[in-house]
Amino acid sequence: MSYQIAIDGPAGAGKSTIAKETAKQLGFIYVDTGAMYRAMALYLLRRGISAEDSKQISEACREADITIAYKDGLQQVLLNGENVTGLLRTEEVGNMASISSANPDVRKKLVELQQELAEREDVVMDGRDIGTCVLPGADVKIYLTASTACRAKRRYEELTAKGEVCDLAVIEADIAKRDHQDMTREHSPLRQAEDAVWLDSSDLTIQEVMERILALVKTA
Ligand code: C5P
Repeated sequence: MSYQIAIDGPAGAGKSTIAKETAKQLGFIYVDTGAMYRAMALYLLRRGISAEDSKQISEACREADITIAYKDGLQQVLLNGENVTGLLRTEEVGNMASISSANPDVRKKLVELQQELAEREDVVMDGRDIGTCVLPGADVKIYLTASTACRAKRRYEELTAKGEVCDLAVIEADIAKRDHQDMTREHSPLRQAEDAVWLDSSDLTIQEVMERILALVKTA
């Protein structure tokens, strides 16, 4: 049996940083499920499909072949054979992903892929529905969150460090909107699994969050 660690939470809570580091320390693979939803969103944007057109999204998602591979231990996302990893972390793709991920056909396709991966390998998987839907029997489940203001500040600093010009108030509004979409959608809304450990990272360093998670892995 593979060992499964599920980390869920809202945008900007630090899930990917924490999940990546946890996987590295434990020698597990890190599966960033948000990147898969983003690759699907990129495909839909390239096809010029509107976020409101759920029928077209359901049809088009069948033609998007999304797979993942690992290069130097880092997850690469392939969209119909093209490595699109570097194109996924824009606000445009993130906003489309937050809408298109509510589509049940998109979810079915990507959840199957995620479950296959977790059956084969020991994983740290992060997303919105890992503990509730994708890996309900995960060995450790964490709900990682932080205040909206704190998450917006982190995203602002990440973008300005990359040289992007951005506005903190716009980022905060975007985060609040995305939380609302992710938490109120009909299919697999973001929520804490009953058996998940709640971790608020607002006043914790990455190291402190890591220590708490590794302690949970030891006691599980
Ligand atoms: O985590 P990230 O911001 O990359 O995710 C992009 C979008 O993909 C999220 O806003 C969410 O709507 C969706 N998502 C999801 N289920 C997951 C992971 C991400 O619905 N397991």
